[in-house]
Amino acid sequence: MADLIRELDELEAGAEAEIEAAATPAELESVRIRLLGRKDGRITAILRRLGELAPEDRPAVGARANEVKKAVQDRLEARSEVLAGRSEVEREVDLTLPARPAWSGGRHPVSLVVDEICEIFARYGFTRVRGPEAETDWYNFVALNTPLDHPAADMADTFYLDDGVLLRSHTSPVQIRTMQAYDPPVRVVVPGLVFRRDTWDASHAPAFEQIEGLAVDEGITFVDLKATLSEFARQFFGPSTRARFRPSFFPFTEPSAEVDVSCTICGGSGCSACKGTGWIEIMGAGMVDPNVFESVGYDPERYTGWAFGMGPGRIAMLRYGIPDIRLLYDSDMRFLEQF
Ligand SMILES: [Zn+2]
Repeated sequence: MADLIRELDELEAGAEAEIEAAATPAELESVRIRLLGRKDGRITAILRRLGELAPEDRPAVGARANEVKKAVQDRLEARSEVLAGRSEVEREVDLTLPARPAWSGGRHPVSLVVDEICEIFARYGFTRVRGPEAETDWYNFVALNTPLDHPAADMADTFYLDDGVLLRSHTSPVQIRTMQAYDPPVRVVVPGLVFRRDTWDASHAPAFEQIEGLAVDEGITFVDLKATLSEFARQFFGPSTRARFRPSFFPFTEPSAEVDVSCTICGGSGCSACKGTGWIEIMGAGMVDPNVFESVGYDPERYTGWAFGMGPGRIAMLRYGIPDIRLLYDSDMRFLEQF
């Protein structure tokens, strides 16, 4: 009797591992036959030997045998459900295929350019600041030496909201807000979205990113402007880059200049990227007009300063060879995941 009870204990313990090891419904079926089969199943064999026992021992062994049989049946059933579930998934996908690499997102090419510009100017002591996108016409035009009837106010005609509030046509109102909030010395870079009533085409967008900078202190001259912006061009475009300053006009700077850099593609000998000139225009700059200082309460006899503004979208197009500005706004993953 003790022999049969021990055999049943071992069988129950071993059956668990055997059942869990079955990887397919077919394997599980052969485990079932081995354990419970009517002809040669191990439990069946034990039950057959009950006849060899003394009659008083039979009920205890029989009860134990039925207990083990029930436990094995329950385990087989549970395993069978697990395998059925898995094979359903296996029919849908090949689980042995390597996982597809998922794109976890990235930074937009314009944001990359903005961050890089801000990092370079941070080394020169410029702080990154932001301001509102909806402005009053005073901040957007008047304080920047552009009376509302001045042609320059038309040039930058933007989208008007209510009561003299408009979508800013440049980031320059943030210069005014910064100077109102802080006394000199001031050194800031201002990235942000600006708005123009431009037609949507390959090189124009009605909303685009701009970044500008402002430096104000006692004794600042045009030499500081040229030196800083030339050094910026070398840092951003490469050490052999040259910068050129052409006279220009902006209402809020005097004198004003357009800043060109030697073509990054041909190095200055002329190619299609620079339209054969060897130069590429990257920004406008100039010495802050004394009238601008007066509108924020700075003493123009004591302080001088310079400012620049550029379009990071255009610079991203140059840097990455992007042919159409609309690609920057399409949110097409096939385009964006290249950066
Ligand atoms: Zn060129």
